[in-house]
Amino acid sequence: MQKFDNATEAALALRPDDPVYCFRPDVLKADARQFMQMFPGKTAYAVKTNGEQLVLKALVEAGVTAFDVASPGEFASVRAVSADAEMLYMHPVKAQSDIRLALERYGIRVIAVDHEDEVTKLTRVVRALDIDPGAITVFVRIQTKGLAAYELSKKFGAGPAYAVELADRLNRYGYKVGLCFHVGSQIEDPDTYERALASADWVRNRVGFDIAGLDVGGGFPAEYGIDPASKKPPMPSLEHLMARLRADLREWQFDTLPLVAEPGRVIVARAFSLIVRVLLRKGRRLYINDGIWASLSDSWTGKLTLPARFIPDPAIRSRNGSESNIVPFKVCGATCDSVDILSRPFWLPETVDTGDWIEIGHIGAYSLSLRTRFNGFYPDTFVEVTTPFEEGVAPQGFASVETMAAE
Ligand SMILES: *Cc1c(COP(=O)(O)O)cnc(C)c1O
Repeated sequence: MQKFDNATEAALALRPDDPVYCFRPDVLKADARQFMQMFPGKTAYAVKTNGEQLVLKALVEAGVTAFDVASPGEFASVRAVSADAEMLYMHPVKAQSDIRLALERYGIRVIAVDHEDEVTKLTRVVRALDIDPGAITVFVRIQTKGLAAYELSKKFGAGPAYAVELADRLNRYGYKVGLCFHVGSQIEDPDTYERALASADWVRNRVGFDIAGLDVGGGFPAEYGIDPASKKPPMPSLEHLMARLRADLREWQFDTLPLVAEPGRVIVARAFSLIVRVLLRKGRRLYINDGIWASLSDSWTGKLTLPARFIPDPAIRSRNGSESNIVPFKVCGATCDSVDILSRPFWLPETVDTGDWIEIGHIGAYSLSLRTRFNGFYPDTFVEVTTPFEEGVAPQGFASVETMAAE
C-alpha cells in the first residue's frame, strides 16, 4: 500500500479519479487501546462496523483479542487474521446451520438469544455435537429504550419479564447465562447506559441463579464534526461517558461480574478518511465519484456531520470567488440512480470546481462495510496516511450539514 503524510499529498500525487480510502493504522490502534484502557472488562470489536482485513489485522496488533461476529463471513474474516482470537456470536436471530458452523468449525462458545426458538436451535446443535452446555455462555439480550442516532431496540431484545423466563430456562439446561443489551449506534443521551443497566438489574434480581456476566453492547459515540446549527446539547467526551458508565456499573453492582463491551464506531470511525473527486460542478451542484450506494450511505441518512477538507487541483489556474467563503453545495452521487443525492448539503469554499478533490473525515465506521457494486462502481483503493485527520490544514467545511450558524 502506498504511504503518504496526508490525504492532500496523496491526492496531488495520484490525481485519483476513483474514491481513495486513507487508512490511518496508528489512529486505529490508539483509539482501540484507549477504549480497552477505559472499559473495565473485555473489549469485543463489532466486526460489522468495518470488517476489512487491514482493520482486523491492525486491531489484533493493538491487542484486541475478542470480536463480536454475526455471520459465517465474519467468522472467516476474524479467523483469517488470528488463529486464536475469541469470537462472540451476538446476533440474536441465527440460522441453525450457522450456529452449527460457529460451534463446530470455529469453536465459538459465547452466543446471544432473545427468543425460546433460538434456545431450541442452539440446544439441538449442542446435543448433536455432544457439547457440555456448561462450556457455553448464552447471553440473553434484553430490550432497552434508548436514544441513539440509530435505534435498534425495536428490532431485537426480550422484554424484561420474558428475559427472566428465558434465562431461567437456559440455566436449567445447564448453560452459563449472562445478560446483554445493545442500545443502538452513536448514542445521543449520556443516561442511555444507566437506563439499560436498570433493566438488566431488574432481570438479574428475578432470576433464580447468579448471572455469569454482563455485556453492555456498543453504541459509544464517535466524535464527528460538531454541526454548528445543532440545537442538541453536545455529547460529553468519551472519557466522561466512560467514567459515568464505570460509576453506574459500580452503583448497580455489576462491577464484580465479568463485563464485555462491543464497540464498533468509536474504535474505527477516525481511522479512515475518503478522497472524492468533483466530476462536475453545475452551479451549486457537485457531482462526485462516490455516493449513497458506496461510501456515503451512513452520512446520507443525514444523522452525521462529517468534516470536509478542500483539496484544490493546482492545474486549475483561474477560479471565481474567494476560498474563504464557505457555501452550501447539493451533492449528487456517482450512480445513475435519482435517489443518489445526499440529503444534506456539503459546505465548501465557493471556488470548488470540476476536477477538485474533497477529503471527507472520520468515515471508517459503516461506510466501507455498506458499499455496494450498484451501477458497476465499487471503491476499493487504499492508501496509508500517517497524519491524523485533525492535524494539518483545518478542514474548511462539512459534508452533510443542514445549516451553518452565522459565524
Ligand atoms: C452493531 C453492533 C455493535 C456495534 O455498535 P457501534 O454503535 O458501532 O458501537 C455492537 N453490538 C451489536 C450487537 C451490534 O449489532
